[in-house]
Amino acid sequence: MKSEFVNFGNVNNIGDAILLENIKNVFRKISSAAIRSGRNPFDVKLIAATKTVPPERIKAAVELGLRAIGENRVQEAKGKIAYCKANCADCNIEWHMIGHLQKNKVKTAVELFDLIHSLDSIELAALLNKYAEKAGKIQKVLIEVKLSEEATKYGVKKEDLFHLIESVYGMSNLKLEGLMTIPPYFENPQMSQPYYRHLRYLRDEVEKKGFKLPELSMGMTNDYEIAILEGATMVRIGTGIFGQRK
Ligand SMILES: *Cc1c(COP(=O)(O)O)cnc(C)c1O
Repeated sequence: MKSEFVNFGNVNNIGDAILLENIKNVFRKISSAAIRSGRNPFDVKLIAATKTVPPERIKAAVELGLRAIGENRVQEAKGKIAYCKANCADCNIEWHMIGHLQKNKVKTAVELFDLIHSLDSIELAALLNKYAEKAGKIQKVLIEVKLSEEATKYGVKKEDLFHLIESVYGMSNLKLEGLMTIPPYFENPQMSQPYYRHLRYLRDEVEKKGFKLPELSMGMTNDYEIAILEGATMVRIGTGIFGQRK
């Protein structure tokens, strides 16, 4: 997926002005990290992580130019998506599911999301495939890989990754586009680097076997520049855009 660099919209109040500054800053840092690693800035997509952010703020961010929104909970996303469809001047935006997906939310998730980042089991894949088929949709997915023991609760273990990939490839209504990971939180972003390098290594190994996994969803506010240096094509940024979550 290509990111589109944006025509920044109009600013009407202080809140929007801060939001716009934050967004520009993030784009600047994405660009410079991409260039430093010999990559094209357009190959890194900014996904705004909006859990707990009220719909009015999401609308403002969309109208300032953000084009991809990531939500963690299906129920919360549902209301926000309806709000944006009804209220945003330009509602041609992508919705990403970046949180853990519960099995009883799969049907709604398929209705709502362009890309699901958190596929982590064959059972979940089978359910997604079933509801995508019913909806007449090809559901794009990423597989979430768990690379640490403690801090990340979800994701497939790397030992089980290849088997899951083969299974997903056999499901006609799923389109596997890549991998996602969430490292433990570190004060020092440099500490995330081995996790991001590991995810890219796993991707490269899988691609040697003939699968195509172009997308790497990795990097959050604290460490996205590191993630880009390691090959991230999607960064998921919350506090860096919207400020500290309440
Ligand atoms: C909240 C969240 C983010 C963004 O985190 P920040 O540190 O606020 O940028 C990214 N990815 C996932 C899966 C999240 O839940």
